[in-house]
Amino acid sequence: MNIHEYQAKALFEKYGVPVPKGAAAKNAAEFDTALATLPEGPTMVKSQIHAGGRGKGTFTDGYKGGVKFCPTKAEAKEVAGKMLDNTLVTIQTGPAGRKVQTVYFTVASDIKKEYYLSILLDRGTSQPVIIASTEGGVEIEKVAEETPEKITKVFVDPAYGLADFQVREIIFSLGLNKTESKNAAKLLRNLYNCFWETDASMIEVNPLITTPDDDVLALDAKVSFDSNALYRHPDIVALRDLNEEDPKEIEASKYDLAYIALDGNIACLVNGAGLAMSTMDIIKHFGGNPANFLDVGGGASKEKVVAAFKIILGDPNVKGILVNIFGGIMDCNVIAEGVVEAVKEVGLELPLVVRLEGNNVEAGKKTLDASGLSLVSGDSMADAAQKIVNLVA
Ligand code: GDP
Ligand code: MG
Repeated sequence: MNIHEYQAKALFEKYGVPVPKGAAAKNAAEFDTALATLPEGPTMVKSQIHAGGRGKGTFTDGYKGGVKFCPTKAEAKEVAGKMLDNTLVTIQTGPAGRKVQTVYFTVASDIKKEYYLSILLDRGTSQPVIIASTEGGVEIEKVAEETPEKITKVFVDPAYGLADFQVREIIFSLGLNKTESKNAAKLLRNLYNCFWETDASMIEVNPLITTPDDDVLALDAKVSFDSNALYRHPDIVALRDLNEEDPKEIEASKYDLAYIALDGNIACLVNGAGLAMSTMDIIKHFGGNPANFLDVGGGASKEKVVAAFKIILGDPNVKGILVNIFGGIMDCNVIAEGVVEAVKEVGLELPLVVRLEGNNVEAGKKTLDASGLSLVSGDSMADAAQKIVNLVA
């Protein structure tokens, strides 16, 4: 789960990670109240969307920059009016962009130097890794490619936590002066606590800055949480912004379905993540394009299958459906009943290819036959994939 910058910075403050003073507004009527909490003077206006690269982004009406410096609060208010309800396109949003539904005003900081700092989970070593670089405010991917020697990585043993020598290693790599080092060390410890205690999967501060007074501040904040741990953080779940999520994915999450919308036109309903991955591969192999990843899980109920089928039918890009079930724990007849029930409720005008194999497959086939549904059955995975690709073509 992702949160907005203004929410991440509120969380940082709770953990003692210094950030510039700021206030968010969700509509134009809130601009004055938000700005009233900040001192008069240089103010940043920042579009709040779940994507990076906002500063260099462009709005669909041609207005440039999703993060803007304004010399006065009056100008900040004017700029906020241009951003709110406007659609911002950045390198991370895709061409459709994202509608800005919240703007964040912050006191503009004087920047001495920009750095990069992040903490994430390294799957290879199963440890948190802290990544720091003297090259801040730019894409870290580019730094990694062009000047990898400017990136420092420190792996933290989760059993021991962040050690003093590791904090020093990172601070030294950034070449900070004495006061900056002291401030950065405190910030890093607090940021690590925040990462650890909130079950975050990633915290990225780009840029982390030093000021002429040797203060160290998180100027930007991107935080994602491990969804599997959200049950123990109701305060974090409350920060979820459904405006930023695909409505189909929201619906799927209500039923605990692993669903990810993609941009092809062949919908897939599959049990098991591995089979779902290979189903997408085989569709591609035969020249088609999957419209989604969907794993209904090992022991899905009929209700879950109905919900899943309705979600894929609700996608206007879908031109055909492939049901590929290998029943191990999954009862093929439950899938068949779910499909029939969903079609009864919402109708079906698209080609449907079904491949059922395994547990209780005979009953499943009988249910489908008896339903009078016009469907094509696939004898094998390859056969089923070829059939749906041809039907859609
Ligand atoms: P992003 O483009 O989505 O990564 O948004 P950021 O919050 O990182 O802002 C983009 C850039 O704007 C930063 O890299 C800074 O160079 C600049 N910026 C952001 N906040 C301030 C500020 O308070 N003062 C100044 N001088 N520049 C800022
Ligand atoms: Mg940034």
